[in-house]
Amino acid sequence: MPELPEVETIARELAPRVVGRTITGFKTDWPRAIKHPDLIAFAREVVGREVLDVARRAKWLVLSLSDRAVLAIQVKMTGQLFVVPPEIVGDRHVHHVFSLSDGMELRIRDTRKFGRLGLYRRDEAGRVLGSDEASELFAGHGPEPLDEAFTLRAFRDRTRARRGRLKPLLLDQSFLAGIGNIYADEALWRAQLHPLRSAASLRPADERRLYLAIREVLDEGIARRGSSIDSYTSLEGDGQMQESLDIYQRTGRPCPRCARPTRRIVLGARGTHFCSWCQRLPAEQRTPAVRRLLAAPGRRGASPGSGRRSGQRGSTKA
Ligand SMILES: [Zn+2]
Repeated sequence: MPELPEVETIARELAPRVVGRTITGFKTDWPRAIKHPDLIAFAREVVGREVLDVARRAKWLVLSLSDRAVLAIQVKMTGQLFVVPPEIVGDRHVHHVFSLSDGMELRIRDTRKFGRLGLYRRDEAGRVLGSDEASELFAGHGPEPLDEAFTLRAFRDRTRARRGRLKPLLLDQSFLAGIGNIYADEALWRAQLHPLRSAASLRPADERRLYLAIREVLDEGIARRGSSIDSYTSLEGDGQMQESLDIYQRTGRPCPRCARPTRRIVLGARGTHFCSWCQRLPAEQRTPAVRRLLAAPGRRGASPGSGRRSGQRGSTKA
């Protein structure tokens, strides 16, 4: 599923293809994806607006349009964007098509159809207003981990205010925006912190390592144009970060640091990959519940449903 580096890559590669163009038409065969306003109003109001800017907030693409309108697109699991000439024939998974004033089409292809679209507006302060026209669309989201304002101090303050374990905390979008399963596992491996370690038990040196690891791995993910593991691809093709992942989906293969086999457990229905040698769990945190979780079979396919991948790569290609 696309996370911060993947959506950032899409935003950067989409911008030169749509900024300065006016949307001249919109068609969809999957209206349920339109979350705001209703389909009729969306189609009427999006047409005639110029695309001024393409940005990202959390895992959303945020297209600023003329007259303070905002087109927000969430690609979710399998959404892919293409800007192509109309004569290129799309397959049956292309569900939304925006015609552009330069004759091209912005198409959204989405095999599993979890993606969402909404047309919102910005208030004078620049906030994107949500569907009730008063609340901020991204109000529930935590800070952007790569923002300059997101300092080690800010990370410490947020971490110390939280309970719970590190892996679920990193996946919590209200804690930090944009991190998902891939980059959470990678950051914890780099920081040498066990995914079940309690956030409250971190010492200042642990917090510093985790903070730096999060930023480094996200920066690297962007530099390598994201991880093309499931169906993610960007406008200029697949990313390369999947070749540089140290721990994610490497169950049984040697840890790049100590060569011991990578472990996988299922935590909150998500596969979690770690090295039990490099990422030690302090003895006092090995409660009976934790020991049961660590003893459960975590290998892909070892228990029903545990090995299911979201959208096999081969089946999502045209
Ligand atoms: Zn190791």
